[in-house]
Amino acid sequence: VRARVMQVEESPDVGYEDIGGLEEQLNEVRETVEMPLKKPDLFKDVGINPPSGVLLYGPPGTGKTLMAKAVAQQTDATFIKMAGSELVHKFIGEGAKLVRDLFQVARDHEPAVVFIDEIDAIASKRTDSKTSGDAEVQRTMMQLLSEMDGFDERGEVRIIAATNRFDMLDRAILRPGRFDRLIEVPHPDEEGREKIFRIHTRDMNVSDDVDYGVLAGETDGMSGADIKAICTEAGMFAIRDDRTTVQAKDFRRASEKLETGDGDEDVSRT
Ligand code: ATP
Repeated sequence: VRARVMQVEESPDVGYEDIGGLEEQLNEVRETVEMPLKKPDLFKDVGINPPSGVLLYGPPGTGKTLMAKAVAQQTDATFIKMAGSELVHKFIGEGAKLVRDLFQVARDHEPAVVFIDEIDAIASKRTDSKTSGDAEVQRTMMQLLSEMDGFDERGEVRIIAATNRFDMLDRAILRPGRFDRLIEVPHPDEEGREKIFRIHTRDMNVSDDVDYGVLAGETDGMSGADIKAICTEAGMFAIRDDRTTVQAKDFRRASEKLETGDGDEDVSRT
């Protein structure tokens, strides 16, 4: 059961140089996750506890998972990922136990970064109880909170959670000592998009006629994941034309295809 819901990577293969834009956000993640792991004495000397949990929120595909992985790799920490939806939907009645297992695995693999994606699936506001499944979700969340509350002589385990639905969150998880660092991860601005294009074309054979500034200017509203998809698609257009060099027109076609294609707009809204 564990192996299927929990993704454990000894030291993920993602570095800070793989992240475009998000400088401020990354600094904040480093301060709250990397510093306590690397310089625990600093916090002891000053006499404060580092923030327990960090919550990243914003639209899908903007680099939340990427940042969590990069900080784990930078600190030589084990990266343990679990999706909130899987916690409650995959194994009915097992949610609370899975949370307990999750933290046990993290302690066994210290230093560790625990990444809980789609935290809203276990920590939504309880408006009305729609189904009896709600009780199960509630139990799962209580277990998560109690794991976090019992964290004070915590070793080297840091928790990062992510959500696309900040508005849905139960405020209980945002209380001090829990996810008390909130970091917004928005769509990239033009400068960020240019950086992301450069990152995802690093290993591509790109023609001189490609202007990254122009690409960035034409992709307003796109996420990092969208940009990555455009780069891959552009490469596909080159292959279809029997070329090994990817040209500006390939990128143009690719972004047109992705814009008019099956992009489901409704999920990208926060
Ligand atoms: P979700 O909310 O859907 O889980 P996310 O914010 O966690 O999304 P990621 O999984 O980090 O998104 O991003 C998906 C992929 O898009 C990444 O693997 C990466 O290739 C690319 N990507 C997203 N944002 C960036 C970025 N800022 N810089 C470089 N690549 C990015």
